[in-house]
Amino acid sequence: MAEEQGEQAKQLVAEGRAREEGGMSEADDAIWRQLRCHMEALRAWGVQFVPRQPPWVGSVPASEAGRAIARLATEGGPAESSPAASGVEGAERGSDLAASASAGVGSGSAGGAVSSEAAVVPVGSLFADAAGEVSEVPASPEGRRKALVELALEVERCRRCEELYATRTQTVFGTGPLDAEICFVGEAPGADEDRQGEPFVGRAGQLLTRIIEAMGFKREEVYICNILKCRPPGNRTPTVEESRHCFPYFQRQFRLVRPKYLVALGNTAVRALLQTTAGVTKLRGRVYEFQGVPLICTYHPAALLRDPSGKMKRETWEDMKMLLRLMGRPVPNPRQDNNR
Ligand code: SF4
Repeated sequence: MAEEQGEQAKQLVAEGRAREEGGMSEADDAIWRQLRCHMEALRAWGVQFVPRQPPWVGSVPASEAGRAIARLATEGGPAESSPAASGVEGAERGSDLAASASAGVGSGSAGGAVSSEAAVVPVGSLFADAAGEVSEVPASPEGRRKALVELALEVERCRRCEELYATRTQTVFGTGPLDAEICFVGEAPGADEDRQGEPFVGRAGQLLTRIIEAMGFKREEVYICNILKCRPPGNRTPTVEESRHCFPYFQRQFRLVRPKYLVALGNTAVRALLQTTAGVTKLRGRVYEFQGVPLICTYHPAALLRDPSGKMKRETWEDMKMLLRLMGRPVPNPRQDNNR
């Protein structure tokens, strides 16, 4: 890595000199200065390496995310981008997002053009201290299942958020099979979930179940969890600190479950998974990647219940159809769409 950085820096300096010596036009000079500022800013944010092109361009994508995104692009679906995941690798992807955002690719929906605001947030800044706490993943499914149970027990004893620990009835870990096709990630348990110990069992949960079934799955076939495992009092929005406290649990859970696709529901999940301060309205309508797994963002079902216009519901369904295309699965008939 250090050698690569050195090479990159040398190359940039050499290119800069060549441009300066070759006598650039004003327009070229402006572009060069902008590029230099951009690189400086990236360096200041801690980005150590910027690939010249996304790894899947012109080659067979190595990750499932890359393959899925390439498939969607080939089939003419919404355009792709691949921002955050974790650490330096995530930072590299952040720069890809910047590139695709500036290229203006997108689905044309509300989130079609991802703003540079999303791209310029330093990756890892929100949960930088949480990123390192990921333990080893057992190889066998039995080992992973056992590790998940142990993790759930560890979560049950957790007191990292004083207020949440003091007011929760119980922790709400998550439900669903290992290797689930999709993992839906929400914000935090509400009153019903806190009472029953299961995620998404209230009105919003029932709506999520209907969405899952409309996509052609049974609820028990997908994994469902939240970023926070405890209910914030009065269902208030979790603080960044609380998300940061709980995120390592999600990371371990994610690695043990190994879902094939991720859906972030609402701002808290979107911000934690993409390490951004941008909101779901700006980020939906595109495909991202979290640790090699394709990720899409959409509204939290609770927000759909509060939207009398039905616009958010329609947009959520568009997001789900995009996901189905990404997965290479049939998209339910448009006549049925009208009734959703
Ligand atoms: S929300 Fe998460 S980190 Fe906070 S007390 Fe509950 S389990 Fe612990």
